[in-house]
Amino acid sequence: MTPEPVNRRTLLKAGGALAALAAAGCTESPSGHASPSIAPIAPGGPDVAAAPDWAGFGRGLDGRFYRPGSSGYAGAHQLFNPRFDSVQPAGVVKAATIADIRESVAFARKNRLRCAPKAGGHSYVGASSVANGLVVDIGNLRSMSYANGVLTVGAGARLYDVHAFLDRYGRSLPTGTCPTVGVAGLALGGGMGVHTRAYGLTGDRILSMQVVTADGVFRACSPTQNADLFWALRGGGGGNLGIVTSFRLSTIPGGRLGIFVLKWTQAQAAAVIRGWQRFAREAPTTSWANLHLDARADGTIAVRAVGVSTTGSATAAAAQLESFVGARASSRTFSQRSHLEAVRFLGGGTTSPRTGFTAGSDVLRGPMDAATINGLVNTVKARARAGKTASAILDPLGGQAVKVPTGGSAWPWRSSLGVIQWYVGLAAHPTSTSYNSARAWITSGHRAVAKASAGGYVNYVEPGRAVQSYYSGSWNRLRTIKRKYDPANVFGGPYGIS
Ligand SMILES: Cc1cc2nc3c(=O)[nH]c(=O)nc-3n(C[C@H](O)[C@H](O)[C@H](O)COP(=O)(O)OP(=O)(O)OC[C@H]3O[C@@H](n4cnc5c(N)ncnc54)[C@H](O)[C@@H]3O)c2cc1C
Repeated sequence: MTPEPVNRRTLLKAGGALAALAAAGCTESPSGHASPSIAPIAPGGPDVAAAPDWAGFGRGLDGRFYRPGSSGYAGAHQLFNPRFDSVQPAGVVKAATIADIRESVAFARKNRLRCAPKAGGHSYVGASSVANGLVVDIGNLRSMSYANGVLTVGAGARLYDVHAFLDRYGRSLPTGTCPTVGVAGLALGGGMGVHTRAYGLTGDRILSMQVVTADGVFRACSPTQNADLFWALRGGGGGNLGIVTSFRLSTIPGGRLGIFVLKWTQAQAAAVIRGWQRFAREAPTTSWANLHLDARADGTIAVRAVGVSTTGSATAAAAQLESFVGARASSRTFSQRSHLEAVRFLGGGTTSPRTGFTAGSDVLRGPMDAATINGLVNTVKARARAGKTASAILDPLGGQAVKVPTGGSAWPWRSSLGVIQWYVGLAAHPTSTSYNSARAWITSGHRAVAKASAGGYVNYVEPGRAVQSYYSGSWNRLRTIKRKYDPANVFGGPYGIS
């Protein structure tokens, strides 16, 4: 038998500080929040000559470890979007403890491997996988506790699970709608959804985090501890600055929601966009509505608003949107739902099947003028005329999203009107022709609204957009903080801050 390599277990035998850490990970601590004042694991250096000791590394982990060819590897590196199934990481760690995460980061740094954290796996560009690098899947760190309005949650939790947990206490959280998105990826990039105008972004509710940085140190960050990291992680996007292991988030009331769905004709599309822009500016913060312009394969486009009122009744909010549009909708549906019913309705259930797609975004610095609105409508019409489907989805900001939370935040779009998402559904493994056609359509969308676009939303990260354009005025400070916490770019990648 080969001797046991120097790994976490042998270190634990030595009775080092890691023992305390292992006992303090998200899976074992009811609060999920341990004291993070632990020194780095290993001083990885640039003079590594030997091949990585994968076997020794794997043996030292508490969680499971997969290498190409090993049983379970194919499933272990799957993301939500099957388009990235072909990306082959050199190893995948399913972390069971914070010690696993620290060891993984130290191993990646020592062996000069790119390290990609993975939570819900919904990255638009597959950034939670990495060819020839190390994926650190924290999906098993998902314990939750609640006290005094504050949710403490392991960074591997998915949105539906968070809502179902909070529902027991009559509480909620402003999040996006997809039930399987990870709270980590969502919150670190901002996190927009039906409560954005009433309560701000998901990331705005973060009170503190625990994070393993590239030096292997487990740190707390808050407005008073590692305040620069706290600022950067809230809007700086996942996968840039370290691996967050848990969040403390201030919750919101989990009250009933009034929901409306309004449909207009294709001929009214421009008027509806104009009206929606006014709504995004002038509606009370208790009202929210997004707009879907869907290109259909039959050559037509569908125009639909999905709205929410946190007062419980949606009729006034819908009437206000219709008055701004200047036309009553041709189809109007209203419902009132409890917190969890609304989560299921808006998210299409409690889970979401893996789906092929490609997408992108433009952040609207203000209302689009008439020519830009026509350009947007014509872009959607052109896709429909080609017999292909696609959607432009307009989400409003405003309300509480303009307020900078305690400790500040790197999220740069406080004064913007909203975000357009350009979305094209694809087969699980699309042909290059259909992928290229989708990307060409998204590029035509960017071009159509260029005059009104301030940049992109990092949670809708896409190929071909400059990384800086997700961060606007936060860019320079983010780069400084990146160099401080990850000088060797352990968490780097083509879409990352460097
Ligand atoms: C179907 C669908 C619906 C969506 N709906 C919305 C919506 O309504 N509102 C909205 O704002 N966004 C929405 N998004 C976008 C979503 O917020 C982003 O894709 C988000 O990054 C996904 O997070 P994740 O944890 O699921 O993904 P992952 O792919 O696991 O992670 C995303 C990024 O964060 C990094 N990361 C993951 N875990 C950690 C961690 N613990 N510490 C540090 N970095 C980490 C990854 O390396 C990657 O770069 C949607 C996405 C999809 C696919």
